[in-house]
Amino acid sequence: MEKIYDVVVIGGGPGGYTAAMYAARAGLDTLVLEKLTAGGQMTETLQIDNYPGFEEGIDGITLGEKMQAGAERFGVETRMAEVVRAKLAGNVKTLETDLGTVYAKAVIIATGARHRHLGLEEEEQLVGRGVGYCAACDGMFYKDKIVAVVGGGNSAAADAMLLSRVARKVYLIHRRDSLRASKVYHDPLMKAERVEFLWNTTVSGLIHTEKLTGVNLKNVQTGEESDLALDGLFISIGRAPETGLFAGQIALDAQGYIAADETTRTSLPGVFAVGDVRTKPMRQIVTAVGDGAVAALYAEEYLSGGTV
Ligand code: NAP
Repeated sequence: MEKIYDVVVIGGGPGGYTAAMYAARAGLDTLVLEKLTAGGQMTETLQIDNYPGFEEGIDGITLGEKMQAGAERFGVETRMAEVVRAKLAGNVKTLETDLGTVYAKAVIIATGARHRHLGLEEEEQLVGRGVGYCAACDGMFYKDKIVAVVGGGNSAAADAMLLSRVARKVYLIHRRDSLRASKVYHDPLMKAERVEFLWNTTVSGLIHTEKLTGVNLKNVQTGEESDLALDGLFISIGRAPETGLFAGQIALDAQGYIAADETTRTSLPGVFAVGDVRTKPMRQIVTAVGDGAVAALYAEEYLSGGTV
């Protein structure tokens, strides 16, 4: 007879490991399935300054490792495996991974979100050859080079700031005439000598040999087209939730996030969603961590057949 875990958490980011830690502390037999490294999207951030308790900030990889270790101290198991198929209906949930099948009475989905792509021809082929989605991860390869960031949100602003300390020149390409990023970024970016804004502009094509050498631009107001020589292009236009495994099984909202309210309960009994993958107004480490604690509480309630 195969083992059936009380709780299996899919995804080892902050929401996932917090849920696992709370579940284990409640005496539930808990497994985390993680395909890459603990920490999730945090591992792409060199310096996290908005997670309380670290007065000097902390890098995302270290924080991820600490969260994993903190959960494992209470008996949480981690398996580095990728879930390839999930059957979430019924009392026993089945998760097929690249390392075998796992069974659970309750599942907590903490799969997060992935970088949105522009959808340009050959964008995928040029990833790692001039095109990137994570300035914190790859920015150091562009020391004294010419780079551009696409987007106008907090990610684009943070990426442009980071790159302005490394690169010779940073273009910030945005399709509007102002940023939607928080005010905290505005002044430093406007004052940064190496940053130049290209407003009302979209990237319409990628120019390349084996590597990216530039981009085609289009001014959305005038229709004027131009080319810009670049060594690197960072696409920072937001994220899309990782819900492919659950399509057709679980209710999603209009934007494709898992429909779950503050209780983290989804449309399926015994299935909970935490962090960036669920409907919520603010996707941050602190909000994911809060979800994790709540999901464990409701999973415990579900498993005991009671109500909270
Ligand atoms: P976001 O806030 O959704 O911003 C996405 C940006 O990309 C917008 O300016 C959008 O333009 C633009 N965009 C979207 N699709 C595009 C396309 N196809 N072509 C060109 N531009 C496109 O995403 P985000 O900046 O990744 O932030 C996500 C969440 O993480 C937010 O809640 C954010 O506050 C948070 N975050 C926080 C920090 C921090 O420092 N605390 C850092 C990073 C992220 P429009 O404005 O025209 O829609």
